[in-house]
Amino acid sequence: MNWRLSALDRITLISNSDAHSPGKLGREANAFACALEYKEIARVIKEKDPTGLLFTVEFFPEEGKYHYDGHRMCNVLYTPEESKQHKNICPVCNRQLTVGVMHRVEELADRPVGFVPKKAIPTIHLIPLEEIIAEALEQGPNTKGVQQEYMRMVEQGGSEFAILIDLPSEEIKKIATPRVYEGIMLVRQGKLKIVPGYDGVYGRISIFPKEGEAEKPVASDTQMKLF
Ligand SMILES: [Zn+2]
Repeated sequence: MNWRLSALDRITLISNSDAHSPGKLGREANAFACALEYKEIARVIKEKDPTGLLFTVEFFPEEGKYHYDGHRMCNVLYTPEESKQHKNICPVCNRQLTVGVMHRVEELADRPVGFVPKKAIPTIHLIPLEEIIAEALEQGPNTKGVQQEYMRMVEQGGSEFAILIDLPSEEIKKIATPRVYEGIMLVRQGKLKIVPGYDGVYGRISIFPKEGEAEKPVASDTQMKLF
């Protein structure tokens, strides 16, 4: 969404994960192809060199707790456009809506949705492999079944990033169950069902379409064509 602000064009956008727990390391990341030493990394970032900084890996921004606008207690979830139509007032309690990130982006943006600047470093949005397996197995991410499957796949595939990003689909097929394979492909294609976060409620992403529900691509974003 930063690409919609021309004022940010001169800045190199990078994505870093914080380290609250080891399992979350690398959930956001930068893929460098340069020599992995301070000076060279600094140069690549400074110059926005696309041969040195290949892409960034990020969450889906919709997962954030304040992506859209609304009122949690009143069960009102609005796009920035809808809240504008309602003059930022909640139709249930008549108080000011809690305005989210996209609302501010809309105010600042001087480019349309989906705009990609010429010199932008590509970004890909990922869902952790654990969560893909968990949804495929219909179990919690911390359950033994999911953890065992995760460890088995990472051992065979080389790493989580290899499985999510690099390996060709035929290789994934060899190490994944059919449903997990399907899940990984849906994430790669950005074909997910997303309910954006609002007013302190985390966004929800589901990978597998529920019965009677049409698959639809991520509405507001641009999954890079890396795959
Ligand atoms: Zn309300």
